Amino acid sequence: KNGLMTGKRGLIMGVANDRSIAWGIAKAAYDAGAELAFTYQGEALQKRVAPLAQSVGGKLVLPCDVTDDASIDATFETIKKEWGSLDFVVHAIAFSDKEELKGKYVSTSRKNFTQTLDISCFSFTAICERARHLMPEGGSLVTLSYFGAERVMPHYNVMGVAKAALECSVRYLAADLGEQNIRVNAISAGPIKTLAASGIGDFRHILRWNELNSPMKRNVTIEDVGGAGLYLLSDLSRGVTGELHHVDSGYNVVGMMRTDAAGD
Ligand code: NAD
Repeated sequence: KNGLMTGKRGLIMGVANDRSIAWGIAKAAYDAGAELAFTYQGEALQKRVAPLAQSVGGKLVLPCDVTDDASIDATFETIKKEWGSLDFVVHAIAFSDKEELKGKYVSTSRKNFTQTLDISCFSFTAICERARHLMPEGGSLVTLSYFGAERVMPHYNVMGVAKAALECSVRYLAADLGEQNIRVNAISAGPIKTLAASGIGDFRHILRWNELNSPMKRNVTIEDVGGAGLYLLSDLSRGVTGELHHVDSGYNVVGMMRTDAAGD
C-alpha cells in the first residue's frame, strides 16, 4: 500500500459486478489505503456487491436507488451516523431503456428521455447535495462519462444527451462547491465491456473501432480507469476541479487516423 488514501473514507456507488468501472476505482482506492462503503441497486445486486465489498474490507453495504430521494437520503444518513464525515464519492451510475440505445436518436420517447436524464445526470447532482454536508474539510466527487457526450456515436443516442448534461453539471457543481474545497470532476472512459455497455447496440463493433483507431491501439480496462480515479479522488489532484479527464487510449484527440503509420 502506498498510503496515498490512508485515513480517507469514500462511498462507491455503481458496482454491479467485478467488471464494473466503479469496482476498478474501488480497488485502486483500497490499494492506496482508503476505507470504502458501497451502495447497490436492488436485492439481486446485493448478492454480487456484498462479497466484493467484503474483499476490500467494506463494512457498509447499503441499498440505494437513485430515482428515490428517500433512498438517497437514507444512504447519506447512514454514512453520517457510522462515519460522521466523508472524503470522496464515486458516482458510476447510468440507465436508459435499451430499446432506445439502438437506431436513431430522433425517435427517443419523452418517458425514456426523462428517465435517462434523471438516473444518469440528475442523480449526481442529488448525491453531491447530500455529500457536501458530510465534507466539512473538503472532498472529491467523481462521475463517469463517455465521448458520446461530445460527438455523435452510433446507438448512444439519448445517453449521449444525458452525458452532455452530466458533463455540464460537473462544471456547475465545481463552481458551487469550490469554496468548500470540494472538487467535482468527470472521467470520460473509453468503451469497456460491462453490464451497462451490453445494452448499447453493436457495442462489440464500437470496442473494435476504438481498439483500431485510438493512438494507443488498445482498449482501456477498469484498472486504467481506476488509476485515473485514484488521482482525482486523492490529494494529487488538489488543484483540479470541473475537469473532464479522458481515459480512452487517446481516442478523443484523433480526427482521422493516418494510414502510413509505419513510415517514420
Ligand atoms: P455497470 O452496469 O457495471 O454499472 C452501472 C451501474 O448503474 C450498476 O451498478 C447499476 O446498478 C447502476 N444503476 C442503474 N440504475 C440505477 C438506479 N436507479 N439506482 C442506483 N444505481 C443504478 O456498467 P459500467 O459500464 O461500469 O457503468 C458505470 C458508469 O460508467 C456509467 O455511468 C456508464 O455510463 C459509464 N461509462 C461506461 C463506459 C463503458 O463502456 N462501459 C464508458 C464510459 C462511461
